[in-house]
Amino acid sequence: MRLFSKVATVLIIAVPLLAQGHDGSCRCGGPPIVPVPWEIDHLDAPYSAAAKEVFDRWNAYIEVFDYRPGDGVMAPNGKNEIAFLDIATTSARYGVNMDRNTFAITYMSPLSAAGDFDACPKPPEASCGTFDETDVIVNSDFSRGFKPSGPIDYTDHGPALYAATVGHELGHTLGFHHNVNDISVMNLYEDFAAQYIAAADTEEARVAYPSRVRRVIDLAIYPFYFDPGLTDYAATTPVDVSPAAVVPGGPVTIRNFEFENVGTESVPDVLIRFYLTRGVAIAPSDILIGSLAFSGPIVSGGYWDDDQAGVTFNIPRDVPLGTYYLSAVISQGNGTSDAILYNNSWIAPQQVTIVSGIRRRAAPRR
Ligand SMILES: [Zn+2]
Repeated sequence: MRLFSKVATVLIIAVPLLAQGHDGSCRCGGPPIVPVPWEIDHLDAPYSAAAKEVFDRWNAYIEVFDYRPGDGVMAPNGKNEIAFLDIATTSARYGVNMDRNTFAITYMSPLSAAGDFDACPKPPEASCGTFDETDVIVNSDFSRGFKPSGPIDYTDHGPALYAATVGHELGHTLGFHHNVNDISVMNLYEDFAAQYIAAADTEEARVAYPSRVRRVIDLAIYPFYFDPGLTDYAATTPVDVSPAAVVPGGPVTIRNFEFENVGTESVPDVLIRFYLTRGVAIAPSDILIGSLAFSGPIVSGGYWDDDQAGVTFNIPRDVPLGTYYLSAVISQGNGTSDAILYNNSWIAPQQVTIVSGIRRRAAPRR
């Protein structure tokens, strides 16, 4: 049971619409059959599990990946494989030269099947074919290294999140090209954004692989604001919570966040709840500070962003003093969460300290 069961504040917001920055992924080339057989050549359990999680992340929308454990040897050999390789081995086996700033590469054979272009939109004259083989080579010499799972590093200086890199590379194996104008796993922005397979991706995937489409309800809340007018790392601004210290009853503002309906189904309404949380994970003891309620229907591909204006809630007066993180959880209006869990919540990087508002002055002693 939550410590505070009543919603402190509910702000009602109008129906979100379709708009710029949320559609327009593109594709050229693809596998000869679906589902595509894959071998996971990671030999250690954490990365094998991480690879399965990313295959399943795509499969939640289109059931295209049929993966199994491999023999641990990845090479141009007619099989679709994923593993870590170092720069020297990649050069020797594939004739491709990575540097230490390369996260990963996707080997596609023949490369000409992907058409002769890099980024969306697809040129009208592009000639697209079929890949005989696709391998995802994760660079074990990458300067920052990798980690198999979270938490998210908003500064983007620490180890890279495996799922963000591999989700993108698996998109390439399906024929997806870079997409710098939309929220997309195929964009070239930071892990806190790149980890998400977004509406632009699922819409294109459903068009490309109609026989493999799964009908799903999936609301995604993103811990960033995306500006479609900018590209690369400039396009995203991570979530921000301020001020760093506040008295009980005082205001806290949460800025730079968005949601999308990534699923196939329209939902009648959407609720975003904001909590103070003690740890770095969502917990039942988290303290509700406010909610945003959206009246719908919110159609597949529908979205809303805060336009960097943020929302402000007052901290409940009876909250215990201390230092907290701020988390957000998205659900349908009746509180029902969907089954695709990884994009249902986030925890902001900033901490908020609730400090005593009473300034006691000792009475002079007599
Ligand atoms: Zn790429």
